[in-house]
Amino acid sequence: MAASDLVNLSGLLDDAKCFALVRQHRWPEGVRCPVCDSGVVIRDGHDDAQPCRQRYRCKACSGRFDDLTGTVLAGHHQPLRVWVLCLYFMGLNLSNRQIALELGLDGSDVQIMTEQLRRGLVVKTPAVELKGEVEIDEVYVVAGHKGQPAAVAKRAGSDGAADWQARQAAARWRRTNHRSSA
Ligand SMILES: [Zn+2]
Repeated sequence: MAASDLVNLSGLLDDAKCFALVRQHRWPEGVRCPVCDSGVVIRDGHDDAQPCRQRYRCKACSGRFDDLTGTVLAGHHQPLRVWVLCLYFMGLNLSNRQIALELGLDGSDVQIMTEQLRRGLVVKTPAVELKGEVEIDEVYVVAGHKGQPAAVAKRAGSDGAADWQARQAAARWRRTNHRSSA
C-alpha cells in the first residue's frame, strides 16, 4: 500500500471512537484525576484543536487534565488515529519499517512510537499483578523445518521478545475495543 492510500485509511477512523478507546483503556471504572486519584471529576469542555478530546476538572484538587494527560499519546504531533493505526499494525506483527511505510512516517519516528507503546499507554502505570488462572493468548511457536535451520532462525528473529510484547499489547487493546463497542 502506498502512503497516499493511508490518507483514506486514516480517514476511516473515527476520532470520537479513538478517544473513547483511550478513556476505556485507562479508566475502565470511570475517570480519575491523574494527580490525586480522586474520582470526583467533572467534564470541563473540549480541547480547542481536538474537539473529541475531553477536558476534566478535579473537584478534590482543582487540577485540570484531559483524555491524554499522562499518557504516551500526549504532547506528540501525531494525531491519535495514527497511534491507533500504529498499534493495530504492531498487532499484525509488522516491522517498524513496514509500519513507517504504511503510515507514511519517518522510520525513527515509528521506532519511538512503538517503543513507547510497548512500555504501555499510561506513563508510570503500576505493574500488572497476575493471580489465579492466567490465560495467555496469541502464543506463536516456530516449528522446525526439516533440513532448513536457516529458515527457522530467520523467522524467529532477534527481536522476537519485543514483538511478542507488542502482540500482547495489541491483543489487550483489541479486547478493550471489543468490550467498549459491545
Ligand atoms: Zn485531583
